Amino acid sequence: MSRREAPIVGLRAAAYRVPTEAPEADGTLEWDATTMVTVHVEAGGATGFGYSYASRAAAVLAVELLVPVLEGQEALDTAARWRDMIDALRNQGRMGLAACAVSACDAALHDLRGKLLGAPLADLLGRRRDRAPLYASGGFTNWVDDRLRDWTDEMREAGFEAIKIKVGAEIGREAARLATARQAAGETALMADANGACDRKGALRLAECLADHGAVWFEEPVSSDDLDGLRLLRDRGPAGLEIAAGEYAYDAWGFRRLLEAGAVDVLQADATRCCGITGLMQADALAWAHGVPLSIHCAPALHLQPALCLQRLRHVEWFHDHARLEAMLLDGAPEPESGMAAPDPGRPGLGLELREADAEHFSVWQGRAA
Ligand SMILES: [Mg+2]
Repeated sequence: MSRREAPIVGLRAAAYRVPTEAPEADGTLEWDATTMVTVHVEAGGATGFGYSYASRAAAVLAVELLVPVLEGQEALDTAARWRDMIDALRNQGRMGLAACAVSACDAALHDLRGKLLGAPLADLLGRRRDRAPLYASGGFTNWVDDRLRDWTDEMREAGFEAIKIKVGAEIGREAARLATARQAAGETALMADANGACDRKGALRLAECLADHGAVWFEEPVSSDDLDGLRLLRDRGPAGLEIAAGEYAYDAWGFRRLLEAGAVDVLQADATRCCGITGLMQADALAWAHGVPLSIHCAPALHLQPALCLQRLRHVEWFHDHARLEAMLLDGAPEPESGMAAPDPGRPGLGLELREADAEHFSVWQGRAA
């Protein structure tokens, strides 16, 4: 197909609320379901698919606020479409749900571009590698003893390069959980994520406890809004413990704030939140310019193609809930092999399709442009 022949003719969005296997918790939240917001964009006889993990409100936002600036415009011009979406949200508050809506649309447009041009997204962005290293992520704070031991054991046997568990602020309880996970992880690196549960002093104490159990990564020890607190942990915490954050950076300005404050040893980024594939590539450029590695947060299926192209990639998070949900609902969802994932080379774009008949059962909202 030649250029300028693929005007966007339709966009629909939906939300699917999928119950977890059992109630789950981290250091600051509890949940029993995960909501996937999906976007389908049509142009040139093809349909692009993208998604985010967010409230159904992000799907409403996409239909009400982004369709008017996308319909009729050239689908192949993803940079122009991205900028139009960003500008359209000026008065809505671009962070949070609005950024998630842009993210799902931008991913769908990149998928559509790959389908229109007949190439996997990694071929269009330019590959740096053929497969992506994964780390296992789960170990919820309501998992103790057998449940935590069995899962950690399973992840070690599956060959992931590292295993991450959630931790809370209570040192005594966490010391016991860390000992359980450490024993089951064997030689595999152990990582921890507090989801901002600690105050600064508590985080410093927990950092020592993590180091005592051989952990190498401490994610959001304090709120990621507390840039000085993250910097304090970097400067005063154990030398072998990397400080990571970035999952709540919703655009390049958010990544820039974390990096300029010297708040992270490793930057995290999530294309389902940070304004899409476009935003993820911007995060990679910022990580490059600040000399830090970039670790991909959640949604492993959506991230696999762009991860192959990132200059600063450390690894991709194989998050328990999302890996389960993506295997349930998406054709083309990757299957890890010895802790690595590679996309199917025969699938264009992101290489993913929503199995709508399977998803229907979980539908909580569907809409399209009037
Ligand atoms: Mg996290």
